[in-house]
Amino acid sequence: MRVDLRSDTVTRPGPAMRQAMAEAEVGDDVYGEDPTVTVLEAQVATLLGKPAALFVPSGSMANQIGMQLLVAPGEELLADSDAHVVSHEVGAAAAIGGISTRTWPTRGGHLDVDTVAEFIRTSVGYHTVATRAVAVENTHNRGGGTVIPLATLRALRELTDAHGLGVHLDGARLWNAHVADKVALSEYGAVCDTVSVCLSKGLGAPVGSVLAGSAAHIDRARVLRKRMGGGMRQAGILAAAGRYALDHHLERLADDHARALRLANALARFGVTDADRVQTNIILLDIPGIAKFAEAAAGQGVLVSVMGPHSGRLLTHLDVDDDGIDHTIRVLTELLSTKVY
Ligand SMILES: *Cc1c(COP(=O)(O)O)cnc(C)c1O
Repeated sequence: MRVDLRSDTVTRPGPAMRQAMAEAEVGDDVYGEDPTVTVLEAQVATLLGKPAALFVPSGSMANQIGMQLLVAPGEELLADSDAHVVSHEVGAAAAIGGISTRTWPTRGGHLDVDTVAEFIRTSVGYHTVATRAVAVENTHNRGGGTVIPLATLRALRELTDAHGLGVHLDGARLWNAHVADKVALSEYGAVCDTVSVCLSKGLGAPVGSVLAGSAAHIDRARVLRKRMGGGMRQAGILAAAGRYALDHHLERLADDHARALRLANALARFGVTDADRVQTNIILLDIPGIAKFAEAAAGQGVLVSVMGPHSGRLLTHLDVDDDGIDHTIRVLTELLSTKVY
């Protein structure tokens, strides 16, 4: 048995999703003529309570376009230091958007609005850079799938409104937050100007993200997407997978969360993870010599992600079922009991 828990991006489209892709009605989306893409964009915009949305190849592109819409070159974006938009998009904010960033260290991906308030700098003289927007991530990836409560996001919105700043929400796993906290997706849409969502993480589509925002923002986003080489032609084949995923794989994320918690509880007995921190589908591991541990686990078909000398993580997803979790618990608890690390 092979159980790949390195990421929720490793899922492969099943027969029904492939069928939907094969049968998709398509056109040239750069001309705005692909009906399947248009329907997907409208569907996501409606879910998020935004007037418009744009299908893009990746979450990174969705985030970078979203931030470019809110922050001009030479202006500033605030985010936490573990935010994907600053730490895992290979410097795109600076290299492509000309965006200056300032960051604060996070504690477990939790958002502290008072900290954001301290960082905002709106009056500029000859030396400083004006803050134009704040980026937040929900759920927080490096924090371990941490859900940002709606009340915190509302407090952030109040703060940013008071200073005339924009908010970009990196919602690569916003679906997981929605399912875990039972908050309507449109409530998240209401607290930000731009929001990105991934179709290729927990939802299990092979490719694609969507950026949602105002009609004016999305008009402009279409230009920025083309500039970055993200204009796609008969993209309805990909959008069809996203539509299938939204219709069939959204509410089932609760199963991934339950499996992650079951696995975390089994591992917590060894002091290598804190099950209380598992809110969604990500389990952070703290094991000295994790590389050796991961290698031994891989030998028995369980793939663990190694993040640092003693840190790793496990993610549950569409392609991991209860048997997979049972197998993982057997393999990992055996390695931990015999101290193979
Ligand atoms: C995966 C992810 C993205 C987007 O990644 P791509 O690989 O570019 O699709 C953005 N933000 C977060 C928090 C992510 O986990």
